[in-house]
Amino acid sequence: MRSPESELAELQANDLLRILRPLDSAQGTEVISADGRTMINFASNDYLGLATHPALKNAACMATEKWGVGSGASRLVCGTLPPHRELESTLAEFKHTEAALVFSTGYATAVGTLTAIAGKEDILILDKLCHASLVDGARLSGATFRIFPHNHLDKLQSHLDWASKTIGNNGRIIVVVESIYSMDGDVSPLAEIIDLKTQHGALLLVDEAHAVGICGPNGKGYAAALGCDQGIDLQMGTLSKALGGSGGYLCASQAWIDLIINRARSFIYSTAPSPAVCAAANAAIKLVQSEEGEQRRTTLHANIKRLREILGQTSNSPSAIVPWIVGENDYALRIAAQLGDAGILAPAIRFPTVPKNTARIRFTATADHTDTQLAALAEAIGKRRS
Ligand SMILES: *Cc1c(COP(=O)(O)O)cnc(C)c1O
Repeated sequence: MRSPESELAELQANDLLRILRPLDSAQGTEVISADGRTMINFASNDYLGLATHPALKNAACMATEKWGVGSGASRLVCGTLPPHRELESTLAEFKHTEAALVFSTGYATAVGTLTAIAGKEDILILDKLCHASLVDGARLSGATFRIFPHNHLDKLQSHLDWASKTIGNNGRIIVVVESIYSMDGDVSPLAEIIDLKTQHGALLLVDEAHAVGICGPNGKGYAAALGCDQGIDLQMGTLSKALGGSGGYLCASQAWIDLIINRARSFIYSTAPSPAVCAAANAAIKLVQSEEGEQRRTTLHANIKRLREILGQTSNSPSAIVPWIVGENDYALRIAAQLGDAGILAPAIRFPTVPKNTARIRFTATADHTDTQLAALAEAIGKRRS
């Protein structure tokens, strides 16, 4: 029987060992690591700087005072409280859908939704760079699933052609993509994908984890920016990135939401998210639609532009994620360590989060980064290169 120590040694030998890096400060563009060092943070997904925003903190505190800390049970048992219903109606209105459902995490949303809507008689077609939560949901669903090369419309079309020939009368074909990809920061050709799925009578699930709050009219996301959000059957995302808190959401027709309430095991067999978390998310969605939200987005996009310049990259993607792909794991670790010594927090991302030989440093810009902080990054990177 192999020991945990031998597995850990193997991970270490392959430069794949992961360790926790504890902080002694709140989340922000400047954080203090547990060993007392101040670091400029280019690693967080708190794109709009809402994780510590007074409006969210206040909403969470007030909800705790009024509704308590815990929700007491699964939503279906006796856990549906006013903050859950308020958040879901805000989400449905925000996304222009009939209904919305909140889960305790984005991960639980992806796994719960895919296992609820797909089974043995169905076919799932996923982009190669879909997030682990979508891949896990696809695997757990028991559906047949096919992967197409990243953003490759011809391959998607051939999978769809095959699926339409193969699928039974009752079967569903479901295409699963992200709108902005979490490790590459590039975008999905959603309008073309909607055309293809429509031609083949398939359904489409889009994960907007890295787009909601940061782009589109009032921060509605990338699909809304393209004006094609109404062509998507199931719109999911997380409340934990630009929205600053935690939890995940699914927005869809009432019938889909009702079915998912009946079938999603990560929803049914899990205690409802806390009132505080729901109230904070509700405040966040209101904030991203306000003038302050618009200002934060403007600053964020200026900072994204500056970050791209620093890294010598050109892209029109609205994404706050700017990867510096270096290839080998040990090389990525070395760069991350050198940046760390220069007071910059930016993580080395390795397999299995990204494909083998595409290890990278993943930088993210947020609305709260200052010119001084960006200049410090430019200097650290300039030194590395010289
Ligand atoms: C982060 C992420 C999730 C998971 O969301 P959590 O709220 O962190 O559990 C799901 N999908 C994508 C694309 C993500 O980037």
